[in-house]
Parts: sequence; C-alpha cells; structure tokens
Amino acid sequence: MRTSAPDCDSLLREADAARDGGRLPDALSLTEAAWLRMAAGEPGDRRRAAMLLIQLRHRSGRLASALSLAHDALPLLRAGGPVGDLIDTLRILALLAADTDAFVQSLAWAQEAHRLAAEHADAVRLSLTTNALGGFFDRIGDPWQGVRLMLESLELARACGDAYALTVALNNTTVALVSQYHLLRDGVALDEAREPLRRALPYVRELAALALDRGDPYARVIALGNEGEVLVHLGDPEAAAPLLDESIFQARRHGYGALSGRIGCSRGELALACGEPQLAWDRLQEVLTSDLPADPRATLRRLHHGLSRAAAALGRSADALHHLEAYLALERQRVVVQLRAQSELFVTRMEAEQMRRESQTLRERTRALEADVLRDPLTGLGNRRQLEAAWPALLAEAGSGEEMLSVAALDLDHFKRVNDSHGHAVGDQVLVALADLLRVHVRASDLAVRMGGEEFLLVLTAIGPERATEVCERLRQRVAEHGWASLAPGLTVTVSIGLASAPPLEAAALMRRADEALYRAKTEGRNRLVRG
Ligand code: GH3
Ligand code: MG
Ligand code: MG
Repeated sequence: MRTSAPDCDSLLREADAARDGGRLPDALSLTEAAWLRMAAGEPGDRRRAAMLLIQLRHRSGRLASALSLAHDALPLLRAGGPVGDLIDTLRILALLAADTDAFVQSLAWAQEAHRLAAEHADAVRLSLTTNALGGFFDRIGDPWQGVRLMLESLELARACGDAYALTVALNNTTVALVSQYHLLRDGVALDEAREPLRRALPYVRELAALALDRGDPYARVIALGNEGEVLVHLGDPEAAAPLLDESIFQARRHGYGALSGRIGCSRGELALACGEPQLAWDRLQEVLTSDLPADPRATLRRLHHGLSRAAAALGRSADALHHLEAYLALERQRVVVQLRAQSELFVTRMEAEQMRRESQTLRERTRALEADVLRDPLTGLGNRRQLEAAWPALLAEAGSGEEMLSVAALDLDHFKRVNDSHGHAVGDQVLVALADLLRVHVRASDLAVRMGGEEFLLVLTAIGPERATEVCERLRQRVAEHGWASLAPGLTVTVSIGLASAPPLEAAALMRRADEALYRAKTEGRNRLVRG
C-alpha cells in the first residue's frame, strides 16, 4: 500500500517500464492519469507525457484520440527541449494522419520532421523521417513511391547502425510491398501480383530476427504479423497459420489494438485461402466487433472485402452483397480522398522525383556526416561504432608483439548518486570532464571511447601489460584526485577499472575479460583497478 500518491513524473516512469514490459493498457492508464493531473495544475514533465501518450494511444489503436493531442503536444515541443523529441512526435503524427486519410496534414508533418532531421544532421532520424514520407505515399495510394522511400530509409538505417531505425524501416518496407500486392491482385496475373511479396520475404525474415534480438514485444508482434501476412498471400497458409495465431494472441494480450485489426484480417484471409469460409466469417466478424481500432481505413476495407468473399462462399448472398457494397463505398471514398489530396498537394510524378532527388542529396550528406555518427555528442569521444571501425588499425598498431595491447573498461562509481544529489546537468559535466581526463591521459595511438552511459573503454597499444597497469592505476588516481568540487560543492568522483591484456589478440575476448575484471573491481569495493 502506498502511503501517499506518486507524483506525475513517477507515474510516467512506471508507464515507461510498463510499455517496455509489454503491458500497454497499464502504460496507457498511468500516462493518461499523469496527463490529467498535470492538466489540473500538478507539476510534472508535460512534454514527456504528451509524447508518451501519443505513442501509447497510437499503439493501442486509438488513432483519432492520439491525433487530437497534436494541438497540445506540438506547441510544448516547439517551445523548447531536444529537437529530437519534436521530430519523433511529428513523425508519429504524420503516420497517424495518413492512417486516417488526413493526407495534407500528414505530408506537412512528415516534411517538417524530415527537414528538421536534415538540418540537425541527425542520421537516425533522417532514416525514420524518410520512412514517414514513404508511409505517406503508401497510404495515399502510391506504394511504389512508398517502397522507394522505404528502401532509402533502410539504407540510411543500415549506414547508421541503429536497431530501432532498422526495425521501423524493415517493417514499413514490408507494409508498402504488401500494399503493392493488394493494389495489383485484382488487376494483373496472380504471379505478377505476388512479385512484391517475394521481394518482401527477406526483409520480413530480417525483421523477425532483429525483433527477437531486441526483445521488444511490439516489434515482435509486428514481425510475426508481417511474415504471416506475406505468406498467406504467397499461397503458403500452413506456414502462415502458426505465425498469425501467435501474433494475434500476443497483440491482444499486450493490448496492441492498432496491430490486432490488421492481423485479424490476415487470419480471416488465411481461412479463406484454406477453403474455410465459415471460420473466415467468424474471425472477420470478431475483428469487426472487438479488434477494430477506431479508424484505419485500410483495415476496414480489407475486412468488408473478406466478409463479402466469405459470405459468397457460404452462399449467403444478402450478407455478401451488404459487405461488398460497404467495401465499394469505402473504396470509392478512398479514391476520391486520394485524388483530391493528390491534386491539392500537386504530388505529381515530377514532384515525387524532386523529393527523391532531395532525399538522395541528403543521403550523400549523411555519408559525409558518418564521422559524426562515430562520435559521442556529449563528450566528443568516439563511441562504440568507432571502436568497431578502429579495431583493425589498433591491431596493426599492436604490431607483431602479441602482448602489446590492453583493453581497460572504466565505469564511474555510484554515478546514479551523483545525478541524484547534484542533478543530471552536473552528471553530464562529470562525463565531459572525465572524457577530457581520458583524452590527455592516453597517447594519440591509443583509443578512448564512451561505450554508453557512464561506461568508457580504453585501448592501449604498443605497451605491455605491466605498463598498461601503471597507466590505468595512474588514471584511477588522477580521477579520484581531480578537483570535482569545482563542479558542485562536496562532489567526489571515482572510477573502477577492469584491465585485460593480450594474448589472445582478439577484441571480443579482451572486452569480456575487461568487463569481468571491472565487475570484480565493483564488488571488491570500487575505486580500484583489477586485472583480468
Ligand atoms: P556502480 O558503481 O555500480 O556503477 O553504480 P552506478 O550508480 O554508477 O551505476 P548504475 O548503472 O546503477 O547507474 C548508472 C547511472 O548513469 C544511471 C544513469 O542515470 C546515469 N547516466 C547514464 N548516462 C548518463 C548521461 O548521459 N548523463 C548523466 N547525467 N547520467 C547518465
Ligand atoms: Mg554502469
Ligand atoms: Mg557506474
């Protein structure tokens, strides 16, 4: 039992944890509660609440209510704070708008997000926002342009090595390829219509592997659903069935309403493909009554299309006609909305080409910025990616001497307490100052990188294990003796270091040994060096 009500920011932290743990309804109600209480004047981070709420309402399938938050969220995000938050929110809003046929708004937001990402040379968000533009074209009825942009977004995601951007790019490339199939299937020979599905298969499989790797339940449901959908339409219902069963089960369990409608349609189509119209009818009815989120028109169209086919196969002509008419009405609406938006937006082939060229220029610029991708923005040190890129040269530097390379893993001691007692800004200054100490302490031929958080790694070349030990021990003392109190009264900072020396001259083994040694340094009392 709580003795007092948690504050709004604690609610948001709990909501984050619930989302990451796949408990969407909990995450949503915590965030809604925090949002309401802040609206009533309680203190808290309204920007974060608004962003989180948009994301969670989107995932739960409440598209219209997610969109309605734009009026509150965008002014808050434009007023200050990291531009990345604004870009991320614009991107989600652009997709939401496209999913609800608000195309003009969707394009405006997607372009704004894309422009901001380019201006701030943010490679990861450049990939994500290129993707949002692709999503716009896909939803407006041009999945060919959509796929082209998705593939560019995929290339950008691979170049910057960001797992989330890669997940998003792989998912949406598949979605746009499946859209091509849906548009083609009534117009050309089946084999030709299936061509985009065959192209989608490797992306779908890569996504599945990545989703498992990341342990993200939302990405996992998407991956299973996509693979199942592609396989159904490729004519392989046996392979599709277990994937779709698992994905609908997980989608409903986690409350991912935005996904369960789509997956439910695929399961109905699966039953039709298996010659089981009654089952198809039941499944599609279930989507209509329980899974269907408020808005996504594409799902609704697929649903009525499927229901009319199921009813026809069951010989129930009145039902078949009813759903066929509903489908055709939606289809006509889509064409009208689409044509009007296209003409309003002048999205002609030439304009699309123009956008593509712009995105090509951006891609070239991104290549030039790859150096930045290798750097940690806070401290200016290299990051994990730089370490990977630099290994071959470091090994060459170590030369023929098998013992001439050491790896030191550094971790600040009780850094959380530094943040807690002096504030995050002081914590950041500590990281920057430590990075400076590292820079002056190692030679040009060595490498110091920030691995993430308050963890750093040194690679010391051209010296043996004894010298490496001396260097690290001196470094540890320097850190302990540094004048930290100038940053905040009473502040002290120490580091623990785990050191591992070759042989074997092998990156993964050295890093693992250094980490194990670091762990021992922590358990033996911190502010010490342990050799592994
Ligand atoms: P230990 O001695 O066991 O390493 O304790 P610790 O508190 O340092 O370790 P823990 O892993 O529990 O906490 C690490 C903290 O580092 C938590 C996180 O808030 C903080 N941190 C990570 N990245 C940053 C950053 O970029 N800036 C600031 N200010 N803090 C950060
Ligand atoms: Mg740590
Ligand atoms: Mg630490």
